[in-house]
Amino acid sequence: MNYFDLRKKIEEQFKQNGIDELADIDWIMVEVLGIKRSMLPFVKEISGKDQEKIMSAVQKRVKHIPLDYIFGKSYFYGYEFKVDRNVLIPRQDTEILVENIVKDIKSKNKPVKVLDIGTGSGAIIVTIKKETNAECYAVDVSKKALEIAKYNAEQNNAKVEFIESNLFENVPKIKFDYIVSNPPYIESDVISTLQAEVRLNEPILALDGGVDGLDFYRKIINQSTDYLTSSGKIYFEIGYNQAEIVKNLLENDYSQIQVYKDYGGNDRVIVAQIKK
Ligand code: SAM
Ligand code: GLN
Repeated sequence: MNYFDLRKKIEEQFKQNGIDELADIDWIMVEVLGIKRSMLPFVKEISGKDQEKIMSAVQKRVKHIPLDYIFGKSYFYGYEFKVDRNVLIPRQDTEILVENIVKDIKSKNKPVKVLDIGTGSGAIIVTIKKETNAECYAVDVSKKALEIAKYNAEQNNAKVEFIESNLFENVPKIKFDYIVSNPPYIESDVISTLQAEVRLNEPILALDGGVDGLDFYRKIINQSTDYLTSSGKIYFEIGYNQAEIVKNLLENDYSQIQVYKDYGGNDRVIVAQIKK
């Protein structure tokens, strides 16, 4: 069977199961056939064995399992990260958080220390290490997530100190130039309304930000001042509707607050510098 015929057959299955991401069909084929997407239209004959592999992935995808969990990997900022259901799949919007902090660190032209809270797959801190060579620390409360993050740091040749910790609990008493976090920020009640791919597959521990979604911002902001240098900064990813309220939470101890938007035009990143 050629590419077009197999794609048509799979498209039917996607549609019957309410899966709208038809591009995933191509990505499954790219992964199994080991070729570039642009080459797919030229594939005249897909072997029985490859068809089986493709259909096995399709069977999982139509059960709403995200592609990255099916193949166990994700791409973030051009780096490859292993993922499984113990870690959130790194989001493209999170690259904006990383892009801004990387730019900031580079402009300093001096050694800095960075702490990532709730590191998950390690996508944020491993990328910061690769792009800036800052001294990097990261915590997560999930042992299983930390195992994945450590693996990803090793695979990407990035030296990061990982610490199993409930927020700052086990963080060494040193001062960081930057604290960065993409904490769980979904309101508890909203989780059941998320798409099945997220709701049924991604770890609840990575999503649930408490009743108003702000639990982690409150806790991190409260404790952060003990861990920052006198000109230290905090970088958060935030939910699309949280900029104003997180700004309010920051205003006591922080100034120079800035908000950045994501690729969809929603507020997604907030940055603040500790008050002198
Ligand atoms: N940093 C990753 C990213 O951006 O793709 C993952 C972010 S995910 C939204 C939030 C992470 O916070 C999860 O890995 C979760 O295990 C971790 N987490 C939840 N509660 C925590 C706590 N009390 N202390 C430390 N980490 C926590
Ligand atoms: N961006 C994730 C989502 O859309 C949420 C991640 C988080 O809570 N930090 O599901």
